[in-house]
Amino acid sequence: MIPNFKMSESFYFSEMIKTSHEDLALENMERSVPFVFNMTILCRYALDEARKTIGLPLLVGSGFRCEALNSMVGGGANSKHKEGLAADVVFPGITLETAINEGRKVVARYAELGFNIDVVVENKMGKVWLHIEHDIEGPRLWVSTEKGYVQEAQTT
Ligand SMILES: [Zn+2]
Repeated sequence: MIPNFKMSESFYFSEMIKTSHEDLALENMERSVPFVFNMTILCRYALDEARKTIGLPLLVGSGFRCEALNSMVGGGANSKHKEGLAADVVFPGITLETAINEGRKVVARYAELGFNIDVVVENKMGKVWLHIEHDIEGPRLWVSTEKGYVQEAQTT
């Protein structure tokens, strides 16, 4: 059984480690242990603040990923998901346009608070989501395009 507890106001441990690859669920949970602190910080600051700014529930599609899970889903070798420092989220009714608009607001809020967190609008195979990750050079908003990741101009 996967233990469950609140990591922050709006996020639970279970949703930060869950995966649809059931054969890796237990391994992913066990390997997440050294990264619980990272995940907690990500939830309490980045994700809670994004949730408040957007004003809608955020559903976590992918949080922590162990090496095996990260490879299986095609994650990059240096993915912050492997350190518990990134999460992919969606909100109800998300589209490319609303993701960019909300991403802009979230990044502006992170800038106000001095959070080093990037927001990436991912847009692959007809799916749109926000990848939120700790980055010392953040906060910045990036949008995935056919030409790669393009940084959106800061509006604040
Ligand atoms: Zn991601």
